[in-house]
Amino acid sequence: MNCLEERIVKDGIVKEGNILKVDSFLNHQLDVNLFDQMGKEWAKRFEGIEINKILTIEASGIGIACVVARHFGVPVVFAKKSKSVNLDGEMYTAEVESFTHKNKNLVIVSKKFLNKDDKVLIIDDFLANGCALQGLISIINQAGASVSGIGIAIEKGFQNGGQIIRNMGYRLESLAIVDSMDASTGEIKFRD
Ligand code: 5GP
Repeated sequence: MNCLEERIVKDGIVKEGNILKVDSFLNHQLDVNLFDQMGKEWAKRFEGIEINKILTIEASGIGIACVVARHFGVPVVFAKKSKSVNLDGEMYTAEVESFTHKNKNLVIVSKKFLNKDDKVLIIDDFLANGCALQGLISIINQAGASVSGIGIAIEKGFQNGGQIIRNMGYRLESLAIVDSMDASTGEIKFRD
């Protein structure tokens, strides 16, 4: 998706440790028009596939998912990060290691908002090692629901998450795949 790639080149900052900072349009200040174009693109790519719910993860996925959901006409559920171990059994839970913060979070979704009839599109901002996605997939499996597809804004193709998720057989549509990036020069190369 060219407009996202162009925006990454214009405003993205490559940090040490394989981190791409996109605070000015995706992760802190949010470019809602860009999200709208992303939603349009995913609606095209997932056309004809049954989707009745979007699932994302707190926090950066929420804004994107909400704008994208308007293109699918479905509600958004977000997995909450929880410090509480005092869960009452009414939650699906998964442990997710944060790539950016290097800590582990318990993520939870209420059983009220996900059930066996749901056909779920997962949306998230980044794909690195795939931990966040595997946590969300686990939650969908616990609910007996099915994964209709996965939409990622920026996949870092030089990390192994994309390969793991595709090998698991999921339909993964990343709008920009970064094949390499260099913190010393700021150069970013995309997959064709
Ligand atoms: P994974 O679980 O696939 O290793 O990492 C995905 C999660 O980590 C995303 O939800 C995103 O919040 C965060 N993340 C991973 N890599 C980056 C990055 O390069 N830049 C930013 N801003 N977030 C990232």
